[in-house]
Amino acid sequence: MTELQPIPDDWTYAPAPESRDIVTLEREYGLFVGGEWLAPSETYTTLAPRDEEPLAQVAQGTEEDVDRAVQAARGAFANGWSSLPGSERAKYLFRIARILQERSREFAVLESLNGGKPIKESRDVDLPLAAAHFFYYAGWADKLEYAFPNRRPRPVGVAGQIIPWNFPLLMLAWKVAPALACGNTVVLKPAETTPLTALLFCDVLRQAELPPGVVNIVTGDGRTGAALVEHEDVDKIAFTGSTEVGKAIQRRLAGTGKKLTLELGGKAANIVFDDCALDQAVEGIVNGIYFNQGHVCCAGSRLFVQESIYEPLVEKLKQRLTTLRVGDPLDKNTDVGAINSRMQLEKIEELVAAGKEEGAEIYQPPCRLPEKGYWFAPTVFTNVAQSYRIAQEEIFGPVLSVLTFRTPDEAVEKANNTPYGLSAGVWTEKGSRILWMAQQMRAGVVWANTFNRFDPTSPFGGYKESGFGREGGLHGLEPYLTFDDSETFGG
Ligand code: NDP
Repeated sequence: MTELQPIPDDWTYAPAPESRDIVTLEREYGLFVGGEWLAPSETYTTLAPRDEEPLAQVAQGTEEDVDRAVQAARGAFANGWSSLPGSERAKYLFRIARILQERSREFAVLESLNGGKPIKESRDVDLPLAAAHFFYYAGWADKLEYAFPNRRPRPVGVAGQIIPWNFPLLMLAWKVAPALACGNTVVLKPAETTPLTALLFCDVLRQAELPPGVVNIVTGDGRTGAALVEHEDVDKIAFTGSTEVGKAIQRRLAGTGKKLTLELGGKAANIVFDDCALDQAVEGIVNGIYFNQGHVCCAGSRLFVQESIYEPLVEKLKQRLTTLRVGDPLDKNTDVGAINSRMQLEKIEELVAAGKEEGAEIYQPPCRLPEKGYWFAPTVFTNVAQSYRIAQEEIFGPVLSVLTFRTPDEAVEKANNTPYGLSAGVWTEKGSRILWMAQQMRAGVVWANTFNRFDPTSPFGGYKESGFGREGGLHGLEPYLTFDDSETFGG
């Protein structure tokens, strides 16, 4: 007879660490140029943000390195890749997608280790979506004539791609997959703090037998990115990052004739009406701002609550925050991981201090933060005025500002009162209100009764200071193509 187990008086989760044995790190990484590893002239140390453990030495790409990479990309473009039938290019993209799926655990562990995001997010969001982007654009590679009928789509040439640290592999996939599908070659610069999955991706390229030079990876800080932007033989720049750097790039490229897409910052409004499913909305709010520690350009960082449900909603939200598990990114139970870098942590701390000083009321659930590494507790600010910095500026951390409204018109006016325009969320039972709100929002993506949903078939991009151009979907092909419209339409 089995003995009855006593009922535990503590229901906390036991640690469930993911093993990092699956990842093999090199001591030092060079630059991936023309299918080979070039020895770096200078290196820097990349860290694990959870405990500041040095992980590897990574190349600080110089102007000469960028030049070699662009030459390799130009050579690969001219010597076969651009003239390869689309169905052949698709084969490589399908291979890359399948290899990413096969090696997804290895990539997920490395992404969490180097970036600080919870393993359950890198495992269940970043990796499946990265593979899905390659699958999706593999499907378009031989159908460009159908996608743009009578316009004779042709590749642009060499694409310079600069990506941030919040979704390192996923941003790589968003950029590399459509570029290759359209017949371009690529020089990509990962963010300084998160180069490791891009470097592991080079191994995938070799495994997929992608011709040398089609994708080149040059690591380094902003100087390496600037050298890529400045290079005369780059035909197109695709940039995701801060509005400030985006503006500098736009100024630099003005008049050069180079194509440019910018995916910049955001300060999204998540708008909750009093007829919504309240518990569902609370989950959406949490997902909107605490997913990936709030390091999300489309994060729902401004919450607008209809006045009549303000109190119950804020109470439920605070209660839900007490159940978030903050800690080791490699623990499968972790909801909120480490802040990506010391610099980002300082920026969050500075803005949170400004919020307190301006008069907002702060709430943070009781949670013990690890002593080493970069950590910030999930934070809610109430009593926020629209003019406060925490309601205006992108914090890019796990910090939510709560504001209120009475009527739909007021919600629209307040939500659009921002220099940004990347995304928005609407929570209501009424379909007609969802459609009306979606039309009124000056934002590239509007989610209804959900938040932070991504799909390779759906275009993503901003208005105003959130940038221009679209990534994803059919629209995501266009920036990587030139068209012969004059011949077809102009006579
Ligand atoms: P940056 O815009 O500086 O970084 C984005 C990428 O651009 C990185 O690869 C970066 O290199 C590179 N870069 C930096 N300077 C230049 C330059 N002059 N020319 C070309 N490339 C350059 O963002 P940060 O990482 O500094 O983050 C600052 C703020 O930007 C965050 O707090 C957040 O508000 C916002 N941000 C928005 C993102 C988004 O998805 N919209 C993503 C990341 C940040 P390096 O890594 O060395 O700096």
